[in-house]
Amino acid sequence: MTQHAHPGAAPAAEFFEAPARAEAAAGVADAFRRAHGGEPAGVWSAPGRVNLIGEHVDYTGGLCLPLALPHRTFVALRPRTDGVVRVRSVQADEGFEGPLHEVGPGSPQGWAAYVAGVPWAMWERGLAGSAVSGGFDAVVDGHVPLGSGLSSSAALECAVAVALGELAGLPLDDAGRAVLAGACVQAENEVAGAPTGGMDQAASLRCTEGGGILLDTRDDTVQQVPLDLAAAGLALLVMDTRAEHSHAGGEYGARRASVERACEVLGVPTLREVDPERLDEALARLGDDELRRRVRHVVTEIDRVRRAADLLRAGREREIAGLLDASHESLRSDYEVSCRELDLAVDTARASGALAARMTGGGFGGSAIALVEVDAVQPVARAVASAFAGVGLRAPQFLAALPSHGAARDL
Ligand code: ADP
Ligand code: MG
Repeated sequence: MTQHAHPGAAPAAEFFEAPARAEAAAGVADAFRRAHGGEPAGVWSAPGRVNLIGEHVDYTGGLCLPLALPHRTFVALRPRTDGVVRVRSVQADEGFEGPLHEVGPGSPQGWAAYVAGVPWAMWERGLAGSAVSGGFDAVVDGHVPLGSGLSSSAALECAVAVALGELAGLPLDDAGRAVLAGACVQAENEVAGAPTGGMDQAASLRCTEGGGILLDTRDDTVQQVPLDLAAAGLALLVMDTRAEHSHAGGEYGARRASVERACEVLGVPTLREVDPERLDEALARLGDDELRRRVRHVVTEIDRVRRAADLLRAGREREIAGLLDASHESLRSDYEVSCRELDLAVDTARASGALAARMTGGGFGGSAIALVEVDAVQPVARAVASAFAGVGLRAPQFLAALPSHGAARDL
């Protein structure tokens, strides 16, 4: 069928496709040859992630259920021996060059922190080896949209971590990956100065194809959870609102501070210790209404994750819809981290046939997800694009979230 554009036609939904892995890997190897001369030692990549459920709970011992996207960040890398890091990114105008001994909290600034911070944090954690301390030449090419709440930052860190880990001869089984994930979190928190929890890096390093992971942030254990949505005739549609999360940093810090205050009042190390069955008792002990709402979100959200994981394990994918919807309401009203664009995407998706929809990631912009029948992907995406155009918002973009595998070597 040919479609002719005509004035007033609904805008097309723009999909952000993941490139074929072999081509993307070959492309970054070429970029390496042009930038540094000679051959890279290899090409590695790590995925962005989308969180199915379990939002704003990874900094208080909660459970979350992210999956790896097919969209990955590639790095071509060759070790050096003089302790210098030289790195360029296809997505950045300025490259970075500097000695590893100058890397530390707050340095370097800008995107290179996510690269140079990784060997620094590995070294800090006792992961010695010449591949860790000798420096490297590298070129990065990212196919995870930047700043969309889909974790391009973790994809970048984890691609570097898996490259250095392999070159240093570190084990890359799940336990080894958990160690690397910890180093990547430290790089992001301390070198890049972004106070994130542990979900993004765990997903990027520890997911396997065809499923998500149930991550327990209290003890850092993961359980693979099957997510064969296609077999159930379903798809997970990511709706990137392209709204900048401008005040996200401050608000994120404020939510973490509220959670810490609540833990102090309740006398628990994390809100994971609050029994959802006895939530009302805990809430009664908190002084102000805002704090009560913050705690209610966290405790009910952790409980929703547990239920969602049980349903997915039982092959009852459709039944997670109510949990996803409830998660959004909780984030919107109790945790207050949604925004106009996220609510519009969620409300429109639901009204145009999605089984469920919710914001995902930190909030205040970024992305939402919708659980849809396979043949409703396009109509729902078009309806959301149309709603955004109707109120003069920047066109959103869409991604298909097929559960993919974690960081690995490509070439
Ligand atoms: P998100 O992780 O949701 O995409 P963040 O703000 O956490 O958003 O991380 C985005 C930042 O990560 C970018 O501003 C940039 O500094 C860095 N980054 C991610 N991918 C790349 C890349 N391919 N090249 C250069 N910088 C990147
Ligand atoms: Mg990030």
